[in-house]
Amino acid sequence: MTSHQRITAIAVLAVSAIWGCGVATAQTYPSKPITLVVPFAAGGPTDIVARTLAANMGKTLGQTVVVENKLGAGGTLASAYVAKAAPDGYTFLIHHNGMSTAPALYRKMSFNPMTDFEYVSQAVDVPMTLLGRKDLPAKNMPELITYVKANAKKINLANAGLGAVSHLCGMLFQQALGVDLTTVPFSGTAPALNALLGGQVDLLCDQTTQTTQHIKAGTVSFYGVTTKQRIRALPDAPTLSEGGLKDFEVIVWHGIYAPKGTPAAMIEKFGSALRTALKDPAFSTRMTDLGAEIVPDAKQTPEGLRTWLQSEINKWGPVIRSAGVYAD
Ligand code: ASP
Repeated sequence: MTSHQRITAIAVLAVSAIWGCGVATAQTYPSKPITLVVPFAAGGPTDIVARTLAANMGKTLGQTVVVENKLGAGGTLASAYVAKAAPDGYTFLIHHNGMSTAPALYRKMSFNPMTDFEYVSQAVDVPMTLLGRKDLPAKNMPELITYVKANAKKINLANAGLGAVSHLCGMLFQQALGVDLTTVPFSGTAPALNALLGGQVDLLCDQTTQTTQHIKAGTVSFYGVTTKQRIRALPDAPTLSEGGLKDFEVIVWHGIYAPKGTPAAMIEKFGSALRTALKDPAFSTRMTDLGAEIVPDAKQTPEGLRTWLQSEINKWGPVIRSAGVYAD
């Protein structure tokens, strides 16, 4: 064998080894547990959606989907973590609207939502609810508007940090009333709700996935839902718009992401398990009971998530910049 033939033979072997390995990887994937990163505290709304999905998807994938809560900076620490994780199909992220508001809220960001991820799919849309501590004197939305305007200096509003939907909803609420309340950030709205139940904070805007049971039990003051129309899970609840905040609307959408460079075959397999979960009647009944809605098929695709994310970045950027809210 000449040296040229030897080099060619080695190159052919190397290429077929890589190719063969790629095929084997795609065929045997997943061969170990997959991590689904949640940017907020365990037990909260994002975590509830993630764990319900993970349990269902694990059955289809034949491997456990492990939920890992990476807390901090309104969800941006988790996004940065996943953006830099190995693109090997074993790390995914579930995040909500915060992925689209972060670029306007954070002047220094170590990841780019539009270039550092592969997109898997959207999942469910969830309304929010405005709650107060049980003994707050205001008993409905018109009373709350009057109360907050008169007591703005002493009222505080809990949220899950800059970039959380509770922050976004609270910001729009303050803008609508022309007040500047003291905000109290938590690592998620599970601890924020506990603080509200304990009377340590006054107000909280949070998803129905966590709040419905407390509203039904009457352990909180409840002022309305953030959708344009009333919702099936709480049919008697007025919208905030009906209560006096004209056109007020916040709906929490969820996207599933992977680090940029994750092989398309793995994205497809994980996405397909997700779509199977979204079509499972047991999953959709559980979500509907909590006020959530499964997104239409067109949004259950990588392109459906990518174009939606871009449109949300375009929508919220100017709103947030005009509010002058940001972190350095
Ligand atoms: N509801 C939270 C938010 O305000 C997040 C969470 O704890 O799931 O973004």
